[in-house]
Amino acid sequence: MSTVTQFSELALSKPLLSAVKSLGYDQPTPIQQQAIPAILAGKDLMAGAQTGTGKTAAFALPLLQLLSETSNPENHIRALVLTPTRELAQQVYKSFVRYAENTEVNIVVAYGGVSINPQIEALNKGVDVLVATPGRLLDHVIKGSINLSQLQHLVFDEADRMLDLGFKDEINRILKRVPINRQTLLFSATFDDAIFKLSKNLLTEPELIEVNERNTTAAKVEQLVYSIDKNRKREFTSHLIGAKNWQQVLVFTRKKQTADELAKEMCKDGLKTEAIHGDKSQGAREKALAEFKAGKVRALVATDVAARGLDIADLAVVINYELPFVAEDYIHRIGRTGRAGNDGLAISLVSPQEEGLLTAIEKVLDTRLLQQWFPGYEPDLEKSLDAAKKQRRGGSKKRARAKALGNAKRKSR
Ligand code: AMP
Repeated sequence: MSTVTQFSELALSKPLLSAVKSLGYDQPTPIQQQAIPAILAGKDLMAGAQTGTGKTAAFALPLLQLLSETSNPENHIRALVLTPTRELAQQVYKSFVRYAENTEVNIVVAYGGVSINPQIEALNKGVDVLVATPGRLLDHVIKGSINLSQLQHLVFDEADRMLDLGFKDEINRILKRVPINRQTLLFSATFDDAIFKLSKNLLTEPELIEVNERNTTAAKVEQLVYSIDKNRKREFTSHLIGAKNWQQVLVFTRKKQTADELAKEMCKDGLKTEAIHGDKSQGAREKALAEFKAGKVRALVATDVAARGLDIADLAVVINYELPFVAEDYIHRIGRTGRAGNDGLAISLVSPQEEGLLTAIEKVLDTRLLQQWFPGYEPDLEKSLDAAKKQRRGGSKKRARAKALGNAKRKSR
């Protein structure tokens, strides 16, 4: 493949080039270099790219180019971008609008958790590109406020997360409403069997593009793992943020309740902190995110679902307060930092009970993540040994139970 280094070499129109220039993008990122020509050539795409690699522009720019080349007198929806979360929908929408500022292309966003009527009004004004979450899209389809029969381009953004969040049925229902003859672009940070299966149903002779090795973390993110007791994590988190004078830190928890409790405690420690998760209203999530972005809130505690797709420029530090249950989520989490070529730091706090989760992450990454102690926060070894013993006992009990069940089954055959 030839090495394209300038946007001007990518066969994009002047209005798009000037939008990109005004955003300060000097050169296309690797995913943009590869995806833009393929999309302009009308190919289906299966692209492995994490958020932060510039993947939104990688599909938005060529789609805007193709859509600007023809008119849309009957106001049909011509491109649909599906995203797993509301936050990602908003972000993709905002990026699209910025890239399209010098064109006539109309872009509308539709996601749940907010009133449907303003979306219907926006749709009625005419739309070329619709960015939507699957559930709300189907609400619109049922209400008759949208018609996908003339769709030309279908994009799945963060397809892996769409499957994780259980959108398979919704996706199948949507596919029944769109023309078979269309261009389909599938973006996914991670690839597993489920994604390959989905891609087989969706794509026709796709071009495969991978800018990072499969299931790897963003290249410039330094990963530190601290072994620490569970009950000292909160104190340590506040201490680290204060001692290092970090001004914008994204902290991950597994549960909504932990996110809320931790945010409250960190506020008591003198750090302005907000929590963001699925139980918060859309308004509250947006407000917290806006304050965090504006630097009014120093730490944002988020669950995996809420944080997926967040684009926060120059986010330097991510703290995994708890390791995720799903190992691939680790990649998504730490992909919040080290974006667009910046350096990033990802810190994981691992209690003895989480050793198994760390091993699973190491397997997915195919790397060893060395654990270290932070002076003053070393884990209580006696307790760790007790926890390990308990885990082993639990494991052997489970094995004994499984064995007994197996015997019982064999007997009953
Ligand atoms: P994305 O992966 O689409 O979420 O993009 C991540 C960040 O990279 C966003 O803040 C974009 O504005 C930025 N970005 C996208 N393309 C480029 C580029 N060619 N040069 C510099 N920044 C970019």
